[in-house]
Amino acid sequence: MPKTQKKDMKIKLIIIFVVLVIVSTIGAFVWFYNNEKVELLKDTFQFEYGDIVKLEGKDILDTTKESIINTFQADYSSLEIEQDKDYPKVGSYDLQIHYKINGRVENENIKIIVKDTKKPNFTKLPEKIELNKGFHLDDLNSYFEAEDLSPFEIKIDTEKLDSNKSGEYEITVTAIDKYDNKNEQNVKVIVKEEPQKSNGQTLNKQNQTIETKSTPYTVSSPRYVNGIMIVNKKNPLPYNYNPYENAEAGKQIRSLISEMQTLGFNISNSYSGFRSFDTQAGLYQNYVNNHGQAKADTFSARAGYSEHQTGLAFDLLHRDGTLVENRNEANWIAQNAHRFGFIVRYQAGKEHITGYQAEPWHLRYVGQAATDIYNSGLTLEEYLGVQGGGY
Ligand SMILES: [Zn+2]
Repeated sequence: MPKTQKKDMKIKLIIIFVVLVIVSTIGAFVWFYNNEKVELLKDTFQFEYGDIVKLEGKDILDTTKESIINTFQADYSSLEIEQDKDYPKVGSYDLQIHYKINGRVENENIKIIVKDTKKPNFTKLPEKIELNKGFHLDDLNSYFEAEDLSPFEIKIDTEKLDSNKSGEYEITVTAIDKYDNKNEQNVKVIVKEEPQKSNGQTLNKQNQTIETKSTPYTVSSPRYVNGIMIVNKKNPLPYNYNPYENAEAGKQIRSLISEMQTLGFNISNSYSGFRSFDTQAGLYQNYVNNHGQAKADTFSARAGYSEHQTGLAFDLLHRDGTLVENRNEANWIAQNAHRFGFIVRYQAGKEHITGYQAEPWHLRYVGQAATDIYNSGLTLEEYLGVQGGGY
């Protein structure tokens, strides 16, 4: 073979080789691109109980390619959803996810774990409680309320407390849910030597009961029985008791109003709620001027004796500002108010006990006790076993 031919052959071989390398490299790239594999970032995902389980492609697929992420879908049918809610029960679930890659659908399994890690919240937690010597330890239960998505209980550690010895104590109150999430709080309990004056009784040296009339100027705090505040013509509030609207009660009255509006009742968003001692004094005086005191006392409270001064009482109004008292409205309120923690405070036929004529529009917030009081059919005076009637 001539030398030049040999050289040509060598060049041709090199060219073929280079072309082959280029072609196979491109081929490899094309193959590689078309056969891209996507891994999962994680295969187990934890959600807090109460949160909606919603998965997104970018949190699960290890790729930044929008074209793949956009095809992501999850099948939520294995989740066991809480009744009337949009979140799943506590537990662990296997979920199938799908996405498209290289024109094919890929299926993968992932695990969803739903856990309750939140502690109960106290909705009622006084900083301190004052009680008279000799009270029953069970009386403490009514001073505390809590809420949680899971079942829970409130435990009160009274080990350091002696209810028969006056003094200052500290008790530990723990709200603990089914999953052992604990909210522990310390509360001061003051055990008092003297019976409370606000219930109209005091003891003299011979241990005889002497009736003393309480007035807004002689009482120093509202009277509570079983953790429920009682205000009537025998049990006034201190003249300087000025708590404004109770936040929880306000929230509940607005939900009640909203539900009535949804049902088509003509109920105003505005209501007559908290009234200070001074406001009530002016209002009552006006009624006395127009109707005389005897008549005014049947429907308006004297200053210091109005439930509106508690921040827990509300009058429902029509949109034109008149009081709500039509039969349909009154029936609905009477049968449903307890669901929101309210009782209809002044009922027909109980005027001699409550001290007021019937007021279907006047609601008093008592919280959890509302259902029990509603079922009992009793007035608050009868339910708590306290005196009512006139001044
Ligand atoms: Zn009222």
